[in-house]
Amino acid sequence: MYTKTVMDHFQNPRNVGELPDADTVVEVGSPECGDTTRIFLKIDNNRIVDVKFQTLGCAAAIASSSMATEMIKGKTLEEAWKLTNHDVADALGGLPEKKMHCSMLAEGAIRQAINQYRTKQGLAPWTE
Ligand SMILES: [Zn+2]
Repeated sequence: MYTKTVMDHFQNPRNVGELPDADTVVEVGSPECGDTTRIFLKIDNNRIVDVKFQTLGCAAAIASSSMATEMIKGKTLEEAWKLTNHDVADALGGLPEKKMHCSMLAEGAIRQAINQYRTKQGLAPWTE
């Protein structure tokens, strides 16, 4: 059902944990599977210099969070904002159709975290 890459990121997820000095922390949930993700971003000079996550959920949600955090680390906020769940699913070698919604969690969490950070800076939140 899952690709080797999905299983690898599920069994050995990257960037798991907390960032005590994070600039922004958000928690989002998905009603379909009951997956929840908390994401921590450390931002310096408009760039994501560190990222950690904690996901409680299915294999697809955990693998997507792991891959998404790998993909945004070191990127600017603009670049991270453009990351979609389809990019993440592609990088994982694909996800089963009925598990695509689980990959939305990481995308949503990253975008909420970016906008929370922008709001703290007195900037207008980004929309689509
Ligand atoms: Zn799920």
